[in-house]
Amino acid sequence: MDALLEGYRRFREAGWPERRKVFEQLAERGQRPSAMVVACVDSRVDPAVIFDVAPGQLLTVRNVANLVPPYAPDVAYHGTSAALEFGVRVLEVADLVVLGHGQCGGVHTLLQGAPVLAGDFVGQWMSIAEPARVRAMRCERVEARQRCCEEEVVKVSLANLLTFPWIAERVARGVLRLHGTWFAIQTGELLVLQEDGCFRGIRRE
Ligand SMILES: [Zn+2]
Repeated sequence: MDALLEGYRRFREAGWPERRKVFEQLAERGQRPSAMVVACVDSRVDPAVIFDVAPGQLLTVRNVANLVPPYAPDVAYHGTSAALEFGVRVLEVADLVVLGHGQCGGVHTLLQGAPVLAGDFVGQWMSIAEPARVRAMRCERVEARQRCCEEEVVKVSLANLLTFPWIAERVARGVLRLHGTWFAIQTGELLVLQEDGCFRGIRRE
């Protein structure tokens, strides 16, 4: 905690004066982010850092392995679905991005089984991505399965996004665009899912 408070002090001294106007305007006018991202809780994969955005620009929901569960308006507690409803229906974001990443612990769990200490929730949560696991296991090279599964998880999340009626309807109308991406921690490279189902790097302009 000391390190966090030290960080906060640095922010107040250096970051706050610089960004004061931005925060004041956001407080007065409210937030109006044009994009939303579904990312992993992994501490190495911070969407604000990767996409270099300022406060107010990107609505973010993070969970284990950047998963979107299927649409299920029942009595269970749906944190990710609630965030999606807020971003899509209330804030009306125009772009919705699923951000997968390399060395994902959640995906590792999906492929290898949940460690005992993560048995209460992680295993059940990761079962959302079972179709991704099945597809990844078809990969003959065992060492390629993790990466393959990380990409397939992004595709599962994108497919599940379309089970939300108010997302499917907005996508059909062309007012909401869905995007799949994958980030390599080691190289900082960002791959974007193309129409042919492959992830490719974006060219530097
Ligand atoms: Zn992850």
